Amino acid sequence: KRFLKDTDPAVYDVLVKEDERQEHSLEMIASENFVSRSVLEAYSSTLTNKYAEGYPEKRYYNGCEQADAVETLAIDRAKQIFGASYANVQPHSGAQANAAVFLAALEPGDTFLGMDLSHGGHLTHGSKVNFSGRLYRPVSYGVRESDHRIDYDALRKLAKEHKPKMIIAGFSAYPRVLEFDRFREIADEVGAVLMADIAHIAGLVAVGEHPTPVGVAHYVTTTTHKTLRGPRGGLILTNDLDLGKTLNSRVFPGIQGGPLMHVIAAKAVAFGEALKPEYKEYILRVKANAKALAETFLSRGFAVVSGGTDNHLVLLNVFSRGLTGAVAADALHHTGITANKNTIPFDPNPPAVASGVRFGSPALTTRGLGVEEFRRVGNLICDLLEAPTDEANIKKVAAGVQELCQAFPMERFRLD
Ligand code: PLP
Repeated sequence: KRFLKDTDPAVYDVLVKEDERQEHSLEMIASENFVSRSVLEAYSSTLTNKYAEGYPEKRYYNGCEQADAVETLAIDRAKQIFGASYANVQPHSGAQANAAVFLAALEPGDTFLGMDLSHGGHLTHGSKVNFSGRLYRPVSYGVRESDHRIDYDALRKLAKEHKPKMIIAGFSAYPRVLEFDRFREIADEVGAVLMADIAHIAGLVAVGEHPTPVGVAHYVTTTTHKTLRGPRGGLILTNDLDLGKTLNSRVFPGIQGGPLMHVIAAKAVAFGEALKPEYKEYILRVKANAKALAETFLSRGFAVVSGGTDNHLVLLNVFSRGLTGAVAADALHHTGITANKNTIPFDPNPPAVASGVRFGSPALTTRGLGVEEFRRVGNLICDLLEAPTDEANIKKVAAGVQELCQAFPMERFRLD
């Protein structure tokens, strides 16, 4: 048998180095996580060889028996997790899931309301450089300046003024709870449909640690790789089977060809994991750890957007300490802490510079860190940001990072 190490040492070398990078750094990007070995095993299976255009029992090619079996498992488990009567597990990504809903709910040129990117929304919620902003007419809503919470009154006013055909409730960087029933009320008042994009909070919703939009929103989309801890991919849910029928045809043949059957197998595995009681324990730790991180920042005199967190992410305002998000995130990177620069509401800086850094607890919680360690990480971050160019300080923080990495070795998939 020949393995990658022998057949393609160049790629093998990259994969080993990535393994080492993950082992020797603290992963705090809020949208990332570490999948289990079982998810990786399914992901690297021979199902990658199979074309299975269509849906279970309605395929265009022969030989889809196992593709049907695994897609049915994924669909059934997704429906069970979220209490939905319809699930489509084929979107290759969260952006694809959103594109399919746009195709199902809107015509080109139609108006929709989405959260402003700089207030926490996602590119697919109406950015000018995205399909959503190029093909449709987005109107943005945001948060209040006083407390950084969604201003539902302002949202209602905007909806009444612009009469959107769709409203999107969802975010990439909002540390508070979304009130889906208030979104639905506003949507009903103006005759719009409601789409909830729970890409970030799907894991919390799955175990009842965030209100569910299923049964409230007409369409629910998510990624499968963030708090949900599955392979990279997308998922669409609804409780309306007529909408489901349209959604099926908007995913395939609307925006995609053959589904990635190996990814769907890995989704099925991850969904199975999310149905286990340990997963709820995990999500409770994710929330407790994010809270500990926010509290540490506050106790050290740093400003946190909205004053804290109710979910898995914390948005640190570094501009108030004379730094930009870009400088702070790069300085952290040099000590082995990986996080991303992020705009904050009413940001005086452009997105490439930004005034904040976004931190998430999902990956390090998977790695085994608890509240005490998150306080330690929070203090290391504050230590660094108080003197980010002081060589001795950088060394000290980097040593603290390595200590934690060694204390919590990754339970990872090895190539050899
Ligand atoms: N929707 C939200 C709210 C997101 O945060 C993201 C990813 O960051 C997406 C959609 C897009 O997901 P993907 O990167 O899989 O296309």
